[in-house]
Amino acid sequence: MNKRTCDILIHNGQIFSMDPDRRIYCPGAVAISGSRIVGVGTDAELQQNFDAREMIDASGAIVHPGFIDAHNHIVHTSCRGIFGSYHDAESLPVNFADWKASVTDADEAAATTMAGIEMLRNGFTMFIEPGSLFSTEAAAEAVERVGLRALFSPLYLWDRGESFEAIPTLASPSLMARATIDHDRCIKELDAELHRNRNADALVRGYIFVYGEGTASPELLRTAHACARENDVPLHIHAGYLPEGADLYRTLTGKRHLVHLQELGFLDENTVVVHASALDADEETAVHETGCKIVWCPIAFFSLGITFNITFKMAERYRRGVCVSLGTDGAR
Ligand SMILES: [Zn+2]
Repeated sequence: MNKRTCDILIHNGQIFSMDPDRRIYCPGAVAISGSRIVGVGTDAELQQNFDAREMIDASGAIVHPGFIDAHNHIVHTSCRGIFGSYHDAESLPVNFADWKASVTDADEAAATTMAGIEMLRNGFTMFIEPGSLFSTEAAAEAVERVGLRALFSPLYLWDRGESFEAIPTLASPSLMARATIDHDRCIKELDAELHRNRNADALVRGYIFVYGEGTASPELLRTAHACARENDVPLHIHAGYLPEGADLYRTLTGKRHLVHLQELGFLDENTVVVHASALDADEETAVHETGCKIVWCPIAFFSLGITFNITFKMAERYRRGVCVSLGTDGAR
């Protein structure tokens, strides 16, 4: 039988394939050619089928697909430790949002490189950036240079400002000047990152992140949802970050955020709600009924000091079969 040639054969590992049958091969092997995995199976089977240019002995170690950080504002890597907790915000000499507005393309490239190397060293091979980059090009170059994968969205898709009263540290006049609260801008930029998806081997791909927390009009939500479905990409949104934000949303609209999103047809199996900490029972039902997914950011949850008046719902969600991924929300 003719053997296939591959570049690298990792052998003598415990291979956690994470395929639909969750097969584990021990001792197992992975064959790689270029940037693609071309074979996964038992050691015996792959050594019989492949001639490798380079062999790597895993010495019995676990080999598994990379972790994905499902929510990472990547530029925060370059201000780690500076802004402390949400409750210290008033006492700081610099507003967090003003700092965000001041970053340069070089800052974003450096932060992405630094975060990327750190991620690789800790087993992460992909992250999802929630539309907070001014220069996705500079960051994409950094991602490709490091050798990670990433999903990028257009910059801050928001067209309503009333909700920032509840989350003042996330917005400032300088940030609004650079990322305008403007419906037409958002509509024009909705598909700005999707051109990347034409290349099936692209390390950086596009999706749509609507900033949320009450900063999107129903028209923006509907158009973003239609654009995401038309282009077969996921749609993410912040919701339920803080109880104050959830309460203000109800005051402004008369409805709970996720119940409203369900009514607007925004929630479905390809919609991902990020944070989902301050949800009430009706919103939990909306999650269950629509099959939307959740990204939960544990460090954000515990550092916000909201655990005294919010019930921790992850166990209940798990029992109800809700799909929950984890995110870091960025370096702190
Ligand atoms: Zn976020």
